[in-house]
Amino acid sequence: MRELKETDVKTAKKYTTSEHLDVLIVGAGISGICMAYYLQTRCPQKRFTLLEGRQASGGTWDLFQYPGVRSDSDMYTLAYSFRPWQDTKVIADGPSILQYIRETAAVFGIDQQIRFNHRVRRATWSSADARWTVETVRGPDQAIVHFTCNFLCMCTGYYDYEQGYTPVWPGIERFTGSLIHPQQWPLDLDYAGKQVVVIGSGATAVTLIPALAEQAAHVTMLQRSPTYIVARPSSVDGTHRVLPATLAHRLTRWQSILFGIYFYSLTRRRPLVAKQRLLALVRQQLGGEYDIDTHFTPAYNPWDQRLCLAPDGDFFAAIRAGTVSIVTDQIETFTEKGIMLGSGDELAADVVVTATGLTIKFMSGVKLVVDDVPVDLAKTLIYRGAMYRDIPNLASVFGYVNASWTLKCELIAQRTCRVLNYMDRHAYTQCTPRLWDHAIAEEPMLGLTSGYMQRARDTMPRQGPRNPWRMHQNYLRDVWSLRFSPVNDGTMEFTRRADHARREGATGKERK
Ligand SMILES: Cc1cc2nc3c(=O)[nH]c(=O)nc-3n(C[C@H](O)[C@H](O)[C@H](O)COP(=O)(O)OP(=O)(O)OC[C@H]3O[C@@H](n4cnc5c(N)ncnc54)[C@H](O)[C@@H]3O)c2cc1C
Repeated sequence: MRELKETDVKTAKKYTTSEHLDVLIVGAGISGICMAYYLQTRCPQKRFTLLEGRQASGGTWDLFQYPGVRSDSDMYTLAYSFRPWQDTKVIADGPSILQYIRETAAVFGIDQQIRFNHRVRRATWSSADARWTVETVRGPDQAIVHFTCNFLCMCTGYYDYEQGYTPVWPGIERFTGSLIHPQQWPLDLDYAGKQVVVIGSGATAVTLIPALAEQAAHVTMLQRSPTYIVARPSSVDGTHRVLPATLAHRLTRWQSILFGIYFYSLTRRRPLVAKQRLLALVRQQLGGEYDIDTHFTPAYNPWDQRLCLAPDGDFFAAIRAGTVSIVTDQIETFTEKGIMLGSGDELAADVVVTATGLTIKFMSGVKLVVDDVPVDLAKTLIYRGAMYRDIPNLASVFGYVNASWTLKCELIAQRTCRVLNYMDRHAYTQCTPRLWDHAIAEEPMLGLTSGYMQRARDTMPRQGPRNPWRMHQNYLRDVWSLRFSPVNDGTMEFTRRADHARREGATGKERK
């Protein structure tokens, strides 16, 4: 372990002694609980704990409280395969998802392993000790608590919990109404009978708008440019009444996986066909008179950015009912009473909701140091969508952008267990993805062109052109890459502590 520095000594009274675990999981959302489940079932010999920065589990599903918050992928794939979703409602509301996550944690005793109010801010790897030292800030008194572990699993989600993204608009300080970001929704906000403007056209806007329209006088969606929005049933059909529950669940899950893969690959191979199909569906919902070209026809191809879902066509129904309208225009300036648009029109608003997105924060900004060298994640390469070039004994979860997050999360958790068991069998203490071929062509980890992805591009790891450096957005490819491909694949370097000592000795001798 590193030597104590002068600054450490000065603040030493704030430190507590460190506790050692085999595996530390950071985050108690869907991913952290998934990782814990697989660890305790497939690596029962491992001692682990979950460090959660907040005082509650559930992550995203606890944080987001805006009206109508719900999943936008089906629960047959968003729920865990090891605890099937029982409800026929497959596009579920936020509170039901939160309850499901917490019940799962309780059913498998994982809730007992969570240390709340422990925010990880730094993790330092030492090859000499073959362990991570993890620095956390605990509770309101901000005490610094250290843990050590052999393997670190970062299940921290993908965005900044502190605040969402709000652009700087001219005149915003003049606006006298309520200005709200969905990430910090005030539960006592009274919008009944009010004029509401929602800025944005992404998943949050499409979710929020029909829910707000139930009470508001009128809701206007103000978008700079349109998004693909597709209506889909929120419940499953009669299969579930006829077939045994487990079989019905499996069938629906696979149906959803395969349809998702088929449609995504159609959008890649024949984008115009996919585009026409999606626009025809919108026309079915709104009729030929509606200006679909202006308000529903994006300039990009389907899946260059995320597709938005309208369960049972709720968004379109609200437009048909006249409680929601869409304005496609630029914001010139905020005024006292609303928003002045590029076209010269003014939109009156009592409440403005800035559904302008999240701020991506990869691994929640935790500072990583490997053998005294700070890691720049933007310079590293993702290995099998789960680990990183030259970063030993660390896995992280980043789900699919075109399918349910949990599908990938489970594969990563299963792979992590395989790696850990392989290391135990061979008495290895360190596993490090190594790029032996330095001529590899690199590209951004995610291909989406959405604003929030573009803004984060320079902070995120990169990917290579092929396995194992490719970040697949395809479950079947990942089943091969993560579940079946050999753990010792020639890219992962496995070492023992003694190897490190020998190497250090050799370099020391050479220097002499
Ligand atoms: C409104 C909304 C709807 C979504 N709907 C879907 C959907 O329908 N389908 C889908 O697949 N995906 C959806 N997503 C993406 C969604 O975030 C994932 O599906 C999933 O919830 C991510 O789970 P997670 O556990 O990886 O991350 P999170 O849910 O973000 O949980 C991360 C946890 O880690 C904790 N944490 C973070 N950093 C630290 C730290 N440094 N120290 C300690 N603890 C830390 C956080 O407090 C949090 O509890 C949605 C996202 C949003 C915002």
